Amino acid sequence: MTENVGQAFRLGPRAAVVKRSNVGGNKAASKDAPPDADHFQLRLFVTGATPRSARAIRNIRAICEQYLPGRFDLEVTDIYQHPERVKADEIIAVPMLVKQWPLPVRRLIGDLSDTQSVLVGLDIADPLVALADTQLPEIAPAKVQHRAPLRTVLYVEDNPANLKLVEQLIARRPDLRLLSASDADLGIQLARTNHLEVILMDINLPGISGIEALKILQEDPSTMHIPVIAISANAMPRDIEKGLKAGFFRYITKPIRIHEFLNTLDLALEFPVQATGQPR
Ligand code: MN
Repeated sequence: MTENVGQAFRLGPRAAVVKRSNVGGNKAASKDAPPDADHFQLRLFVTGATPRSARAIRNIRAICEQYLPGRFDLEVTDIYQHPERVKADEIIAVPMLVKQWPLPVRRLIGDLSDTQSVLVGLDIADPLVALADTQLPEIAPAKVQHRAPLRTVLYVEDNPANLKLVEQLIARRPDLRLLSASDADLGIQLARTNHLEVILMDINLPGISGIEALKILQEDPSTMHIPVIAISANAMPRDIEKGLKAGFFRYITKPIRIHEFLNTLDLALEFPVQATGQPR
């Protein structure tokens, strides 16, 4: 069977595909219009009605509808029906997704089931944040204790990228909320005025250092019971030893490794308050 380019065609009973489908309804999109800067032009090459092709279509549509609402054109081409396109579009494997706009052109191979990899591949997601998402186990809603009070974690950090990553990680934990401070003075103030379970402390901070801040927290009866985890780019053994001697609960080095971070955070959250002899 042959069909004109530009017509809807069918890949199987459940995979009807409309060429240049424009789910978001951008009226300006037409074949001759110059692409606007953030309007994605995507072309997915598939082979007939194979399950892998059908999955790729479903996956990319879901991703586009969620992350690019109103600003994408997705064209699906069956290379069995349009074999001439294999050479023209340099198709080396299928399914293959080609991002034609915005530049740079990108080619992604596979069924596109790893959403985070697709988002990174299409330059939609920040790789740092995407890394957090791909490596995190899903949290089953059934396990969440709905009545458990939110527990508060403070992160003292002047680096926005690290803060963003930790925000992403904490956002996955419905039992936790995150406060942040970009310097130690503000961090100490927040520690004195909030009921905190754990403090995450950068060492190199503007103004007083994380180690000095730890001393202040340890000397204050209202904050001395709170476990403080150092998170630092100072990764030499003597840095770590110095940190642990100063009294940090644990010392994590940057770049933050997600499993290590979560495990250490859990340890600190379970840390028995009685061990310090300080009532809350
Ligand atoms: Mn810093």
